[in-house]
Amino acid sequence: MTEQATPVVVVGGGLAGISFASALRQGGYSGPLTLVGEESEAPYDRPPLSKAFLKDADEQKIRLDVSRLADVDVLRGVRADAIELAARSLRLSDGQRLPWGTLVLATGARARDLPALQGTARPVFTLRTMDDARRLREALKPGCKVLLVGAGVIGLELAATASELGGEVTVVEAQPRVMARSVPATLSAYVQQRHLAAGAQLHLSRRIVACFDGGVELDDGTRVPTDLVVAGIGVQSNDELAQAAGIRCNDGVEVDGFGRSSAPGVLAIGDVARQVEPVSGQVMRIETWSNAQMQGAAAARAWLDASAPPYAENPWFWSDQYELRIQGVGMPAGERELVRGDVASGRFALLQFNGDRLVGAACVNNARDFGALRRLVGRRFDATDAQWADTADLRKIA
Ligand code: FAD
Ligand code: NAD
Repeated sequence: MTEQATPVVVVGGGLAGISFASALRQGGYSGPLTLVGEESEAPYDRPPLSKAFLKDADEQKIRLDVSRLADVDVLRGVRADAIELAARSLRLSDGQRLPWGTLVLATGARARDLPALQGTARPVFTLRTMDDARRLREALKPGCKVLLVGAGVIGLELAATASELGGEVTVVEAQPRVMARSVPATLSAYVQQRHLAAGAQLHLSRRIVACFDGGVELDDGTRVPTDLVVAGIGVQSNDELAQAAGIRCNDGVEVDGFGRSSAPGVLAIGDVARQVEPVSGQVMRIETWSNAQMQGAAAARAWLDASAPPYAENPWFWSDQYELRIQGVGMPAGERELVRGDVASGRFALLQFNGDRLVGAACVNNARDFGALRRLVGRRFDATDAQWADTADLRKIA
């Protein structure tokens, strides 16, 4: 059972922290609740930072709903510096010591730096915060040569946005295909084609080895001239606070299905939490908007109600690149792939099976199928390939 000790203190004012605090209030908890966040910005959503926000600069559109936080003590621009487990208190950067009965770590992750870029005379960016996005927006001028290091979600969303803003885009990726972490090889090839068609230069299986005045040099000797560089090479979890307190961590705070860490009274949620992914059974951090929102809220419900079930939502994400809305759920690849719909039409789904179990699905411009697939992934079926490929409503298959 999740220990219901108060006061409740949440560290991190991102989506997971806000979701937890909102769900706690919504669930009827009216006791003391404090949210400590090091960013001085009012809470905002990160997904638009690599997409619409770079084009429309509309800060109001991306604010998170904080209507349920009216009676929450929100400390902004304040960092949690140390967890004192025995005393159940939290040391803050402004010198305060906050007592807690339950401590919720929602400290997220930060962008990884790329040491190989030290020494370039060009501005180097990473993208995680609204301030990062403001600076990047200033720098992205029509005609400027933009180098994206990493062809993951950040790199490719930025490649599309920069190109739409009139930039000349080059992408350098260490793996032999784009978005290798999150989508199957067939979809990587499709997405890659879309970027090439827009005029991007792609260097796959390549790394930067040196910088020169005006650009970078790759490990095959290619010299890429550039006006600005963005490193989108993954994230590192902000788990140092927990590590220093002796809480069990391994690239993230290890938690169970109720968000409970190895320390009594300490929960972890969102990007910083390392948990069992229900489809593959692997223990991992799930770096998606939906996990931050749903696992954060589920941990609050479990805190309120000892009979609440453990969190076991299929992990899913989306990515917008040009006119492509890519949505993925479950494992990126299985033993066998089946195509639903017509790839040439630009609207299709790729289903992944291990035996008779649907273990994953990725959709392009196909929200209707995706809505059904989100619920079907993880289950076993005796449907034939023809039934799966039938473009009639997927809900009939279950
Ligand atoms: P975060 O959002 O990282 O929030 C953690 C907060 O804790 C931060 O404000 C941080 O400053 C604060 N903090 C850290 N340490 C301390 C401390 N010691 N004291 C006080 N405060 C602290 N996901 C999708 O599914 N689809 C998308 O299209 C998508 N697009 C994205 C685009 C961008 C540019 C980025 C960066 C992410 C995107 N994501 C997307 C991922 C999604 O936004 C994250 O998974 C989600 O924000 C994680 O939320 P979180 O609250 O766990 O962590
Ligand atoms: P990522 O892990 O998706 O991709 C990083 C890419 O960089 C990988 O393809 C990797 O092979 C490559 N790489 C690593 N080191 C490299 C090197 N030295 N040289 C060249 N390539 C290298 O991470 P990301 O794209 O940086 O995204 C960061 C975070 O933001 C993640 O948590 C991600 O989930 C989140 N995000 C999500 C979305 C989305 O789901 N649509 C969009 C943007 C960001």
